[in-house]
Amino acid sequence: MTKFQKRFNAKMKEWYDSDKSITNLFTTEYQRMLAYLWAFSEARKSEENISEIKEFGSANRKAIGDSNYDNLLRTRDYCCRCGETYRLENLSICVECDNLFCYRCNRRICGCSGEVVG
Ligand SMILES: [Zn+2]
Ligand SMILES: [Zn+2]
Repeated sequence: MTKFQKRFNAKMKEWYDSDKSITNLFTTEYQRMLAYLWAFSEARKSEENISEIKEFGSANRKAIGDSNYDNLLRTRDYCCRCGETYRLENLSICVECDNLFCYRCNRRICGCSGEVVG
């Protein structure tokens, strides 16, 4: 199990235990976005508790709010490999080290062995 997966599972458990309290979601918009992208990534499809994972992922996405989420995706950032600037919506993100990858440099696993999502 990856570090992110452990964090995600711990948070998800807190959230369900708290009767889905908004205070037990991830704290920052960025973390909430990662949780959402991770929950809905291809790699999750074979998880046994996929419906719980998706519900928790969606709750994090919802807590950001639509307009904040759009703003977040519109921010520009650099690909960690080629240095090109893109909108965040066109970059993929390593959930462990926050490295960003453009579509040309994209990979499923980051150099830090973290999972790349988005
Ligand atoms: Zn690149
Ligand atoms: Zn990484």
